[in-house]
Amino acid sequence: MATDTDFQQLAEEVDGPVLRPTDPGYDAECFTYNLLTPLRPVVAVGATSPGDVQAAIRFAARFGLAVAIRGGGHMQPYTAQDALLVTLDRLSGVTVDVDRATARVTGAARWSEVIDATTPYGLAPMSGSSTTVAVIGYALGGGQSPIFGRPHGYASDHVRSFDIVTADAQLRTVSAEAEPELFAALRGGKGNFGVVTAMEIALFRVTSVFAGGIYFPASQIKEVLHTWRDWAARLPKQATTSVAIQNLPPIDEYPEVLHGSHVVHVRYAYLGPAATGRALLEPMRGVGTRLLDTIAQQPYREAAALHNDPVGPIPYQDRSLGLAALPDEALETLVGLTGLGSGSLLASIELRALGGALDRVPARPDFVPSRGLPYQLFAFGVGDGALIPVLHDQLERLFAAMRPWADLKHRRMLNFLSPEEALDPHTLSEVYGADNYDRLLAIKQRFDPHTMFRMNHTVRPRQA
Ligand SMILES: Cc1cc2nc3c(=O)[nH]c(=O)nc-3n(C[C@H](O)[C@H](O)[C@H](O)COP(=O)(O)OP(=O)(O)OC[C@H]3O[C@@H](n4cnc5c(N)ncnc54)[C@H](O)[C@@H]3O)c2cc1C
Repeated sequence: MATDTDFQQLAEEVDGPVLRPTDPGYDAECFTYNLLTPLRPVVAVGATSPGDVQAAIRFAARFGLAVAIRGGGHMQPYTAQDALLVTLDRLSGVTVDVDRATARVTGAARWSEVIDATTPYGLAPMSGSSTTVAVIGYALGGGQSPIFGRPHGYASDHVRSFDIVTADAQLRTVSAEAEPELFAALRGGKGNFGVVTAMEIALFRVTSVFAGGIYFPASQIKEVLHTWRDWAARLPKQATTSVAIQNLPPIDEYPEVLHGSHVVHVRYAYLGPAATGRALLEPMRGVGTRLLDTIAQQPYREAAALHNDPVGPIPYQDRSLGLAALPDEALETLVGLTGLGSGSLLASIELRALGGALDRVPARPDFVPSRGLPYQLFAFGVGDGALIPVLHDQLERLFAAMRPWADLKHRRMLNFLSPEEALDPHTLSEVYGADNYDRLLAIKQRFDPHTMFRMNHTVRPRQA
């Protein structure tokens, strides 16, 4: 058990703040995007350099503490009680190499920071639907971009190297050449192997995209969903789309016409000539009354926010499921539980159409488990207090009802596992598949033999 003197010594060794629960600044250091998953570690270390991370890891090893990691704070496991928390905000940075079309991203740099740094040079990164998500946490789970995903695969396919502090407190540079096994494990293995302090990613020479969203009233959910399913299945891989049934709050983040409304939101991006993107979109535009249509050729920095995700932080619960198919019965089930008159309070029920280059076998081996999955269903409800059990029940009911169409191989996008699922070894071994789970476990046992990194997506020996 560490004493006050031990914590004091750690504070002397580290340049950033070392904060215990009663210290001013502790709550801010333990920030998360989800207000229902507050972090309460025994100590939070605000790393300013890889050296600070190494000192924190040495301390954790000496006292047998688990290490929790916060980048952007979008996917934290409940409290991280009894753990040492490493936060990475002070290490954040982005350096662009224009000639090589790459960026070196450090600490908890968010996609918005990368977009700000790259777009002035006509370069775009494989950002996700929310630009407040941190780049490294996203890529460690694969990272599915609503613009580049189907044309170019997962974000982790475009990572050149990682800098990581492993459980032995060594700082390693990991690439396909330098440390191939760990390089594979980091692309899909989330935070199991250490604290990633930097990552080099490839960028795309793209300045603008034909992209945006169409909002239809809830009265048209049924027609929109049926048309979307048939239309999405025929799109070329340059086109990426998703659809979401949403209860939107009356807040300024949304245009007034959408305030407090129940809508169905079709998102679309086409990487290619605008005229082709526009022609492909016609069947969707013709479905019904459009409340708002923002789809147009636009600079990448605007197109990147095409999902209009909440900026947060917010109190929310979520669930996800990989779907093998969307027959009429599956769509009717969705409409019945979330459409007009259903009483659904869920903020968003989203279907992402995957496929295209997301199914491509990567040039280097990895552990992204969702290749070949046709659709991802993701839903969340926003609210605290008395709403918590109500939203929980609605999510449970929805996902139980959709289970008949679940992917038989249990494939899911790792980045969308709920906190409970990310902590459940059974769910994880299902999602990775037994063979890959065991391979990942063997690499984990080599680099983290005492399971120091056990706070999220933890790969551990399976129960017999
Ligand atoms: C609004 C919203 C939209 C999203 N959209 C997409 C999307 O379009 N596509 C997609 O693929 N995902 C998406 N996600 C999921 C997102 O990619 C994951 O939640 C990701 O884990 C967020 O990383 P973070 O650093 O922001 O979160 P954190 O909560 O800080 O990190 C989550 C976990 O990742 C690991 N981790 C994070 N940083 C590091 C690091 N530097 N070293 C080692 N381990 C680390 C740790 O295990 C940590 O517990 C979205 C999430 C939200 C909330």
